[in-house]
Amino acid sequence: MPHSLPEQGEPWDATRDRMIAMAAGDVKWRDGKAAVYVFNAGEDVERVQKEAYAMFASENGLGPAAFPSLARMEREVVANGLGLLHGPEGAAGAMTSGGTDSILRAVTAARDFARKVRGVQGPLNIVLPRSAHPAFDKACLVMEIEVRRTPLKDYLADPVAMEAAIDDATIMIVGSAPCFPYGLIDPIGALGELAQRRDLWLHVDACVGGYIAPFVRMNGGDVPPFDFEVPGVRSMSADLHKYGYCSKGASTVFFRSEDLKKHMIFEVGDWPAGRMTTPTLAGTRPGGAIAAAWAVMQTLGVDGYRAKHGQVTQAREQIEAGVLARGFTVVGRPQLGILAFTREDVDCMAILGKLYERGWVTSAITEPRGLHLMLSPVHLTVVDRYLADLDWATRAAGGQSGAGTNIGYGR
Ligand SMILES: *Cc1c(COP(=O)(O)O)cnc(C)c1O
Repeated sequence: MPHSLPEQGEPWDATRDRMIAMAAGDVKWRDGKAAVYVFNAGEDVERVQKEAYAMFASENGLGPAAFPSLARMEREVVANGLGLLHGPEGAAGAMTSGGTDSILRAVTAARDFARKVRGVQGPLNIVLPRSAHPAFDKACLVMEIEVRRTPLKDYLADPVAMEAAIDDATIMIVGSAPCFPYGLIDPIGALGELAQRRDLWLHVDACVGGYIAPFVRMNGGDVPPFDFEVPGVRSMSADLHKYGYCSKGASTVFFRSEDLKKHMIFEVGDWPAGRMTTPTLAGTRPGGAIAAAWAVMQTLGVDGYRAKHGQVTQAREQIEAGVLARGFTVVGRPQLGILAFTREDVDCMAILGKLYERGWVTSAITEPRGLHLMLSPVHLTVVDRYLADLDWATRAAGGQSGAGTNIGYGR
């Protein structure tokens, strides 16, 4: 049985060598060949992630009394996030294992708020634009909440369509900052106005934008209000392991007040080993992910993030100019690190497949069919190579209509 536990262990050196060999076929993300799955802020950041993670790899965030170090790091990471996202006095949050976890906890809090505070009975629903992340469907599947998706207007959430979908059983409305498919920020100001007028819980999913948008704005970028600055926003999700450049397994979920946050806390007292209280879904919480997030934030600081995100912006602007010059249309006006572009006379899925042959692991969009890039600082060094390979792939894809499938989500 090749995959069963070996009878006898081997020296770590031998195991490590085999792991290096196993990774030989993986995407060369350190060379900038991945524009999905990995956020590459360079060797300096990678080293901090790894050393900090290793220092606290055995420690457990479940026990704040045993590990006041981790409790302090989490508090400070949450405070940093709230500071960046205009968290008002009294705002609160927690670290989670990822964006899906953060969204799941926010939906849980909104549900319990609806049941306990608003007294809503019977089946519940959430209303969200077509472009919002499937993590909301996952949360609603777990909690048996109906998902009402509304059509987009110019690739953005349409507050009018969303209002039409709302009823007394709506526990949450959602806007993205930005949405994953197009990298565009929904009109959060208008959604906030709707939320206030109808007394609704507005969640802003800033999983992929929360730790880049504030710095792009500091760099002079045109970023509209999207966070707690908008009065109707009650909760937010922002992933540290994306544009926070932290190790994987780290996200943040935020609430406008402790009073709203308390609905996500899990507490059970009747158990032979005593009371169990957890802020998130997890029991055991990886100390490494907390420590690495804290360490990356300390070592980058505001100037470090501004510099890294400035490189992302430059890469995006150069690629945008490059694809426009090649006859592609950019979807909307992206302001952060994601862009999608399309061309009607060539099969973009076939181009995607050809790019993969040259080692590029990137994604696609399906409405319209197009190419999708989620850029990191490293991509500034490979813009010319990417565009040259895009030229080759476009030529190679000529006439191969319908040959591709959406491998962006599939792999
Ligand atoms: C990545 C992402 C998520 C989900 O986060 P995971 O960390 O992958 O669970 C949710 N929303 C948006 C907009 C995202 O980009």
